[in-house]
Amino acid sequence: MTFPTTSNQVSPVFPEIGFPWHTLSAEDSLNKFHSDQDQGLTLDQVHQRQKYFGPNELKDTGGRSPLTILWEQFTNIMLVMLMAVAVISAVLDMRKGTFPKDAVAIFSIVVLNGLLGYLQESRAEKALAALKRLSSPKVRVIRHGNVQEISAKELVPGDIMLLEAGVHIAADGRLIEAQNLQIRESALTGEAETVNKQAEIILPEDAPLGDRLNLVFQGTEVVQGRAKVLITHIGMDTEIGRIASLIQGVETEDTPLQQRMSQLGNVLVSSSLVLVVLVVFVGVLRSGWQNFEELLEVSLSMAVAVVPEGLPAVVTVTLAIGTQRMVRRHALIRKLPAVETLGSVTTICSDKTGTLTQNKMVVQQIQTGTYAYQVTGEGYAPDGEIIAQDSDEYEINEEVKQLLTACVLCNDALLQKRGQHWEILGDPTEGALLTLAGKGGLYREDLWLEMPRVAEIPFSSARKRMSVIVRVFSNNKTTEETLEAEFSSLVSSSYLMLTKGSPEIVLERCTAVYQGNHVVPLSDDQRKHILAHNDRWAGKGLRVLGFAAKPLANIPEDDQEEMAENGLIWLGLVGMLDAPRKEVKGAVLRCREAGIRPIMITGDHQLTAQAIATELGIAHAEDAILTGRDLQHITPRELEQLVSNVSVYARVAPEHKLQIVQALQNKGEFVAMTGDGVNDAPALKQADIGIAMGITGTDVSKEASDAILLDDNFATIVAATEEGRVVYDNIRRFIKYILGSNIGEVLVIAAAPLIGLGGVPLSPLQILWMNLVTDGLPALALAMEPAEPNVMQRPPYSPRESIFSRGLGLYMLRIGVIFAILTILLMVWAYDYVKTPGLAGDPNRWKTMVFTTLCLAQMGHALAVRSDSQLTIQLNPFSNPYVLGAVTFTTLLQILLIYVAPLQSFFGTHFLSPTELLICFGFSALMFVWIELEKLVSRWFFLRQK
Ligand code: ADP
Ligand code: MG
Repeated sequence: MTFPTTSNQVSPVFPEIGFPWHTLSAEDSLNKFHSDQDQGLTLDQVHQRQKYFGPNELKDTGGRSPLTILWEQFTNIMLVMLMAVAVISAVLDMRKGTFPKDAVAIFSIVVLNGLLGYLQESRAEKALAALKRLSSPKVRVIRHGNVQEISAKELVPGDIMLLEAGVHIAADGRLIEAQNLQIRESALTGEAETVNKQAEIILPEDAPLGDRLNLVFQGTEVVQGRAKVLITHIGMDTEIGRIASLIQGVETEDTPLQQRMSQLGNVLVSSSLVLVVLVVFVGVLRSGWQNFEELLEVSLSMAVAVVPEGLPAVVTVTLAIGTQRMVRRHALIRKLPAVETLGSVTTICSDKTGTLTQNKMVVQQIQTGTYAYQVTGEGYAPDGEIIAQDSDEYEINEEVKQLLTACVLCNDALLQKRGQHWEILGDPTEGALLTLAGKGGLYREDLWLEMPRVAEIPFSSARKRMSVIVRVFSNNKTTEETLEAEFSSLVSSSYLMLTKGSPEIVLERCTAVYQGNHVVPLSDDQRKHILAHNDRWAGKGLRVLGFAAKPLANIPEDDQEEMAENGLIWLGLVGMLDAPRKEVKGAVLRCREAGIRPIMITGDHQLTAQAIATELGIAHAEDAILTGRDLQHITPRELEQLVSNVSVYARVAPEHKLQIVQALQNKGEFVAMTGDGVNDAPALKQADIGIAMGITGTDVSKEASDAILLDDNFATIVAATEEGRVVYDNIRRFIKYILGSNIGEVLVIAAAPLIGLGGVPLSPLQILWMNLVTDGLPALALAMEPAEPNVMQRPPYSPRESIFSRGLGLYMLRIGVIFAILTILLMVWAYDYVKTPGLAGDPNRWKTMVFTTLCLAQMGHALAVRSDSQLTIQLNPFSNPYVLGAVTFTTLLQILLIYVAPLQSFFGTHFLSPTELLICFGFSALMFVWIELEKLVSRWFFLRQK
């Protein structure tokens, strides 16, 4: 593979795919790509390479192929039955010597329905794939000397990519630097153990994939540590791209509802087969074989009538619309079932930092060994003052300087000025520390040069602390000034370890305190004093971090690093404010009204957690709080006893989240759980709805989730829950609508021969028309129905409840029967009326009147079924204009079917006089009146009960 020549410049030659990068040193690799480990590529180079290599994407070999989707449409049992009906009806017609019109029509409608289903499903599939792309990972790279965040798609060979814990690696690369890098390569090698990777080594060419410790591969995950990587292969050239079979496609599991729908299909089909046999059997018993063909026609019609041919398509579309509504409210659905099950959530377990709070940290107070200070200023701009408490004097002494130095060096964030704006890249907690240091005149750019980092033990939610080891150059004057004499005399050595983390944990590891330019032993009184201070700040809702330092003679071995985090010198406390998100308080209230319990789970201090939980209304000040330590000591059984009464969990580690979810689920709760870290993945998987953070979430947590919050906001979960309820309500609404009509049709068809009217009132073709078009269009419109005013003022419905529960099954039967009675009355009357002497028209036109009444009555039903409680005149007709549109349009279509000659002959309808048409309208209107009366009656009962 060669790089394209640009005009007169000699092109660099690129190594071919599969080049053994593990045999080259980091430096040689960089040279081959004309890249630089500190500057990265120039923007020109990036553009050129993007043009040449294309996007860093795997070709989507997953998902169902279009042909499979199409085929699946026709394996649907209901369509199979319709095809059988078509064949039988064709045989009947041919024996009569007439053209098999019904058969051809049924067949084409089967094909059309299949194609429609195909279009909808492939659209839904595409939409889902597009949503997945939206959540595609971001990567951090160095380009043109700047650290930037770009979409993984834009990576090119030669890019310098930065890795940290929780990242999904987005391309193959050669390590340039690595600290403590642990990678899980199971996606590639099947090996579950994590692999420790190193940059310095060079390997023989025949080293197998799993042993190439200086390379990282696309699709694997960083479990721990940090690294700088030179991208060597992207897209289909990566190892995983080459093993195309490993690529996972778009998941297409059926939702519980779709499963229930296909079950329903089976029941309907088999019961209609039973009906057919029954009708033929009874008919033959009564009048012998001479009426066999007519009986067969009746039963064929019944078989077609009982099946809701339009239903599956409407369900699919509704779910797709649901995902779109949710995305508009910043919730991205990764797995389709979540759309309908979100509405069933009874408990939401949420992180505190960033989800309930803004994650915009501002340091407000600091305390060193001797002094206390107030910090002024807002946002991340390093403009503000550090003012000694009890005096207005602005003074920064050695104690503060040491603390601020630790803030800057024990830190992985970046503070940058973009235009007029200061922003941070990385963890906001750390960003706030950089801002604080800036207010004291200390900047990362200078300090990192003076004291470069040589080793680190990264932060994790389980450790709740992080440490770095920096080199101290003894010949560097500034460093000597910064590093107090006491430190340097203590140490003949030239390394310094700096630790920050949860104050209790850091303080536990301290034996001395830095006070008035001296390192003095830490007394018990001082410890108590520091912890009291910590509690006081935490009680105000501040997030508090503790800092410590320790001089080292040399860099500890990899396995002794944790040991080194002992015998530390206490430097001080930093308290930062992370204000609650404004909209959360309202969202918590909405949750309560909707019968959903919000729970806070945080790694932060219990008092901080309590202060914020109280402010947001998640808990009362006197409520019990469980801490990670408590959780360690209780059995799952005991936890189950407690979960119903505890709404705040503090200082927990990620594994506790799993225990909490399980305990809640054992108590019958339907749990939504948020998470962002690598270690949250098991809890996200266990939860009924796992929700990952779109902004701060790691790729691993996103992969494990059902939904992603694009804005990390708790209020978004509540909004998505509301949408989930709306989707479910709408599904129930159109099922009521559609199946009620089917029952009515069957009864009417069966009634005709029983009453002794000659002939089948409805042909299979007309029934198909009703089920697909005149029922289908309004049903689709009903799927667009906006939320009912009380969706969030009622308790959640169980996800396990039957679709027919809460009166739906009864409603269907009742409405089906009313529907049939009305139509049968009309049928009986019309049968005689059309024979009135002097009236023009075909004597068979009573059938057309039955057909028309059934269609039109469904229009009234569609208007009335929009609300169970409110009368149609109380509803704003334009709050769902689609229903009005669909009803008008469908009525027009029905009239065309009666009066346009070609349609008339195709559908076998007859001309109706205006009076006759009006009579049909009149009978149909009765259906609407009936449903409205039902609402009034149930309202009256409801009032009486009160
Ligand atoms: P949460 O985000 O819910 O507050 P975390 O697990 O992220 O919980 O953090 C737990 C605790 O670890 C925090 O309360 C804080 O004391 C400490 N901590 C958080 N971030 C850092 C960090 N970058 N470095 C050191 N300690 C940290
Ligand atoms: Mg956190």
